[in-house]
Amino acid sequence: MSGNESRVQAIYQITNREPVLVEKPGALSKIWACDVFNLAKMEEALSKNAFKAIKKTVQTGAVLDSATADIVAAAMKEWATKKGVKFFSHIFYPMTNATAEKHDGFIITSPEGNCITEFTGSLLIKGEPDGSSFPNGSLRMTNAARGYTAWDPTSPAYVMHTDNGATLMIPSVFISWTGEALDKKIPLLRSNAAMDKAANKVLSLMGETDIAPLNSSCGAEQEYFLVDSNFANSRPDLLLAGRTLFGAAPAKGQEFDDHYFAAIPARVQVYMQAVEDKLYRLGIPAKTHHNEVAPGQFEIAPYYEAANVAADHQQLLMTILKMTAREHGFMCLLHEKPFAGVNGSGKHVNWSVGNATQGNLLDPGRTPHDNLNFLLFCGAVIRGVHLYGPLLRAVIASASNDHRLGANEAPPAILSVYLGSQLEGVFHDIKEGKLEAKAEGGLMDLGLSQILKFERDPGDRNRTSPFAFTGNRFEFRAVGSSQSVSGPLVAMNTMLADSLNWIAEKLEANLSSGVDQTAAVIAVLKELMLEHGNAVFGGDGYSAEWHKMAVEERGLKNLPTSADALPAFQDEAVIKLFSSTGVLSAVELESRYEVYSEQYVQSIEVEAKLMIEMAKTIIFPAASSYLMELSTTYSGMSEMGIEMDKSTATTVAAETNALLASVAKLTAAMEKHDFDNVEAHMQYLANDVRDLMEEVRSHADALEAEVPDDMWPLAKYREMLFIK
Ligand code: ADP
Ligand code: MG
Repeated sequence: MSGNESRVQAIYQITNREPVLVEKPGALSKIWACDVFNLAKMEEALSKNAFKAIKKTVQTGAVLDSATADIVAAAMKEWATKKGVKFFSHIFYPMTNATAEKHDGFIITSPEGNCITEFTGSLLIKGEPDGSSFPNGSLRMTNAARGYTAWDPTSPAYVMHTDNGATLMIPSVFISWTGEALDKKIPLLRSNAAMDKAANKVLSLMGETDIAPLNSSCGAEQEYFLVDSNFANSRPDLLLAGRTLFGAAPAKGQEFDDHYFAAIPARVQVYMQAVEDKLYRLGIPAKTHHNEVAPGQFEIAPYYEAANVAADHQQLLMTILKMTAREHGFMCLLHEKPFAGVNGSGKHVNWSVGNATQGNLLDPGRTPHDNLNFLLFCGAVIRGVHLYGPLLRAVIASASNDHRLGANEAPPAILSVYLGSQLEGVFHDIKEGKLEAKAEGGLMDLGLSQILKFERDPGDRNRTSPFAFTGNRFEFRAVGSSQSVSGPLVAMNTMLADSLNWIAEKLEANLSSGVDQTAAVIAVLKELMLEHGNAVFGGDGYSAEWHKMAVEERGLKNLPTSADALPAFQDEAVIKLFSSTGVLSAVELESRYEVYSEQYVQSIEVEAKLMIEMAKTIIFPAASSYLMELSTTYSGMSEMGIEMDKSTATTVAAETNALLASVAKLTAAMEKHDFDNVEAHMQYLANDVRDLMEEVRSHADALEAEVPDDMWPLAKYREMLFIK
């Protein structure tokens, strides 16, 4: 197709599209978790003893004996085959942000030629996908072994339907044969265990006697864009890179703030409801949906769940968002910055820790004693952010998220923690020694009763903070929309475990010196704040003053690109953090660094290659056709004796030449391969190559503003963002 034919056709298709026929969904109570083999289903299907055993495994992580595993497998197969399932799959989460699955049939044949179905405990527990093509950061190259998947009974199995079949999906971990973690689930489970152990120590020192296992919770707000697939399929950059590499800013963008929380377009609402009904069937508690700031941008947030389950559900939610979009004639873009000039997409990870006996430990609570626990856990987070800020930046580092972070719309690339004025005041007073506990016992009334009356939603939400306390949880706001929530959760749980261990040691020493509990707690927190209070910041995180103050006065790190951030995985302190808590060995951590750096390099290289191709084969031809047309016009007019203003031709010719020149520079830059190490390679891409890409884009976008609309081949921003 030449000229703007593909755009015209797309608009025609969209204008004349028939509404998607959607099934009227059943009531929530009918569809809720109907495709999930959860504890309720197991209770119906299993004997009392078998159910008791599996319940213990699910709730406490206790080992399941093989006889019970066989019984559970048989019941699971029975339940699934009634739903038309013939295949099962161990679903797992490799170190990329992807979800992976390999499907196997229940079928076996007999010598007589009959077929029966079989599913044993050992098939349920262990799978052996040939995972050799998953990035493993040299872990398996050295061991020359394949990976294993192993069932995670703490995350329920479920059935995924297609038009003519269904598959039983079994959430699993992915390990090398030497037992090294190759996935995102194992460290999450381990980080939770480390946090549980450390929290238990602190709570015991605080005199708690009945302490249920502690778990972390996560509620993730997922932002995304919807673009009509007629446009999306015509843009090679959206197809291959998930974002537009070119595109001039439309006359109208998001300046009127007229999209945020506005009425949801009917077609989009139909899509959202279809997504939610699928999620409900899978036991995923979708709770909120609304328009986001940029035109074409939306958000979905499920109700929070235990971190491990929430992480699996988040991956599934992203799959369902994309899959359902296709059914509704949309492409769902989870990229962090699909369109320049309008907001990008994030995934706010809301996180708290708690248990059945003490409740949410990041909730101020009802008694002064609860408040002391709360202050200790909150202080532990402050210390974590201060000590491991660069790690928090590293776990959200990716080529795509770099477009958001620090770009004056999303949180800055400096990790600080926002507490809200009231709580910040309490910690400030503790640091200044204004909140000394009274020597002769009794609880302080001043400061602690202040927290008691703590407002849940203080109203002064700080959107510029990357890490904010929001009343009963922390919200990690710098996470990217396409990322797995596991990395951030692992970092948060692990830094919390480390801080709680530190607190336990100090608290124990203080208590054994004979001071009362309140005084001991305040003394620990005072020391903590003197050392780590620099991470607390309540001001404008976007401002130039903060960028200067954070680095120069407070000693915090500003890590604007992934090339700057990823090497944090190699810091001695980070290696020690993960190995001392048992979350990741030094080798496992190193493998993660390798995988993430490799991914960073690859994603920029793919984009640069694609950019060169599109500039040469799509944009240059459009510009030169226009120049040809102009030159014909000019010479024709000149023959008639009419002289024309040739400034348009001059501009188009100059931009076309500049485009070709910058494409040549980018092509040459991509040929460099002799880097001393991966850091040098990443820095080169983050700076030299990204700058050249910007340069190519600027000329192409300038041409888009000059070339006649009917000769421009790529769908325009106004079309992709506004036509629904
Ligand atoms: P916002 O006003 O920040 O946009 P949303 O309602 O969109 O808030 O999302 C808030 C998320 O935080 C939801 O997923 C919610 O379930 C979750 N959440 C609420 N309380 C907790 C908690 N104690 N721990 C973890 N997540 C929580
Ligand atoms: Mg929200």
